[in-house]
Amino acid sequence: SMEAGIVGLPNVGKSTLFNALTSSVAAQSANYPFCTIEPNEGIVSVPDSRLNRITDFIKPKKVIPSALKLVDIAGIVKGAAEGEGLGNKFLSHIRQVDAIMQVVRCFEDPDVIHVSGQVNPIADIDTIETELVLADMQTLENALGKAQRTARSGDKEAKLRVAAIEKCNAHLENEQPLRTLELPEAEQVAISSYGLMTAKPILYIANVDENDLNGEHELVDKVREHAAKTGASVACVCAKLESEIAELDEEDRAEMLADVGLEEPSLNIIAREAYRTLGLQSFFTAGETEVRAWPVRIGATAPQAAGVIHSDFERGFIRAEIYQLPELEEYKTEKDIRQAGKLRVEGKSYVMQDGDICHFLFNV
Ligand code: GDP
Repeated sequence: SMEAGIVGLPNVGKSTLFNALTSSVAAQSANYPFCTIEPNEGIVSVPDSRLNRITDFIKPKKVIPSALKLVDIAGIVKGAAEGEGLGNKFLSHIRQVDAIMQVVRCFEDPDVIHVSGQVNPIADIDTIETELVLADMQTLENALGKAQRTARSGDKEAKLRVAAIEKCNAHLENEQPLRTLELPEAEQVAISSYGLMTAKPILYIANVDENDLNGEHELVDKVREHAAKTGASVACVCAKLESEIAELDEEDRAEMLADVGLEEPSLNIIAREAYRTLGLQSFFTAGETEVRAWPVRIGATAPQAAGVIHSDFERGFIRAEIYQLPELEEYKTEKDIRQAGKLRVEGKSYVMQDGDICHFLFNV
């Protein structure tokens, strides 16, 4: 649940953004448990100011931020859903990711040709969404016959599937993405293996002009309106500027950010938005050797969080000792938090909260 795919029409700034987002972590990718990194994939680090606040009190040898995997999904073409070559590949890549990040062009630049002749982010969004709606309809059509046959033999699960497919179809015929369809939990589970693409969470990234960094632009407003109606979210960036900022050393970067009036690189915000779109939050481990942020699904339990670090930690989970930043800021050391009786002891059913700082105790 940690993979986002970046998509967009040609010339919207997709590669510029992908490269800027993934260039800084390349060197330390050994820290991350992603099995393989293909040529069209990269690791995006997720900056978190809470890491600095922790290291104000606990001085580690190493600080490791959380991360997610970004897949560069090239080759959207009209007619992708009809299954020709590139289009097919495009769709199969989208099926595999957990969330979609679509770059839409909001910047004007006479030197950069727009594929359809004019800058129109809503048309860009529709072009891709239409292909995904058509592909989902096809998936459901293929699945329906089989589900109906199995349902006739009295299979309860198949009956749920038929009911869910029919609701999905009606929704898609109204040109609505499945993201906005509410289904009972059991029906959601029944169709979860289909990899329906319009059900995936989506983040629109409005690529704006250098002069519109604050996102106060009519085109960005249109993207926001559209997103609000379709259960998506929006972030703003000037990809070209960010790729320049990313190449600077720390001092020059601070100066440049101040010049353009940004508190931090917009890439940081995009990384955090992508993380949220994936349904992730962070917990921390903090010791002398390493202070580290780890990704965990919102709603996950303590043993599941332990399992993010190592599967043995989940299997042998006994309990977790947990505190949060305010306790560290008040008592200064973990020892003093413990002595003050503020170190919480949590068991197997504890639901992780964003920002928990944890020790896991486990049997091997
Ligand atoms: P892709 O085809 O979507 O991957 O687009 P690219 O990242 O290759 O960008 C296409 C062209 O647009 C390149 O010449 C970029 O330098 C330019 N470009 C990308 N982002 C911006 C931007 O924010 N502003 C301007 N003016 N040009 C940009």
